[in-house]
Amino acid sequence: MGHEWDEWNGRPLPGGGDFSAPPALFFRFAALTLAALAGGVALLFYLLAPRLGALWPGLFPRALWIALGVGAGLEGIYLGLVAASYYGGTNLLPERLMERGPYLRLMNYTSLVARAFGRRDWVEHVAIDIYNTLAVRRGRKVGTGELLVLIPRCLSKQALDGVLEIAGRYEVPVFVATRGQLARRVIRERRPRAVVAVACERDMMTGLRDVAGKLPVLGLTMQLPNGPCRDAALDLAQMEQWVRGWISTSSLPASR
Ligand code: SF4
Repeated sequence: MGHEWDEWNGRPLPGGGDFSAPPALFFRFAALTLAALAGGVALLFYLLAPRLGALWPGLFPRALWIALGVGAGLEGIYLGLVAASYYGGTNLLPERLMERGPYLRLMNYTSLVARAFGRRDWVEHVAIDIYNTLAVRRGRKVGTGELLVLIPRCLSKQALDGVLEIAGRYEVPVFVATRGQLARRVIRERRPRAVVAVACERDMMTGLRDVAGKLPVLGLTMQLPNGPCRDAALDLAQMEQWVRGWISTSSLPASR
């Protein structure tokens, strides 16, 4: 079993291992995360202010509070832009400033806060959904040989057969990447220009954090009806849609 599930108690997962949730859940937790971050920094400033004020009277603590206010304001504007992009149907920032940039860090920090409330998997699921929505809209195209499908070892036979069938139809190579390290090695060796990765929410979060900044990735999460790390099911129609959408028409196999 992947170490992400070390604390699993052996009982069936909630919702049959389907962690779908409304997008607003992520935005609520992301706002809480940014507020907690600003609050933590404010507390630090509060504790350090007397010393810093003695060292640089006149400059501190006022400059620190102004910097904190500006930083918190920018964070709020950023989250607003991500939400407006998601709900408005148009990406308002370039990918380097959104799904392949600070949004990846925001997803991971928000996941940490969600863990404290026992909502980790749901929040991660929605964070990945939002990431995918933003990434798909970029309309990127690659050749068949430039796309790679990475799958985990926990797929059910039915899901595995379905993935292999889609990959065969579009002539896209498939690799089983049992751990993040292996996935990174496959990517280093094959040098794809885009990846469709399949994993549970927990594994996908680390995968996106490590890879999505360097390479365009779409992340398909799974359902875990029999608990973590076995018999995972996935949305094959979604996978085919992504594979077909990413492959440029000129390089599609003739029979498609
Ligand atoms: S992707 Fe599958 S094998 Fe890997 S941690 Fe998630 S459930 Fe376990």
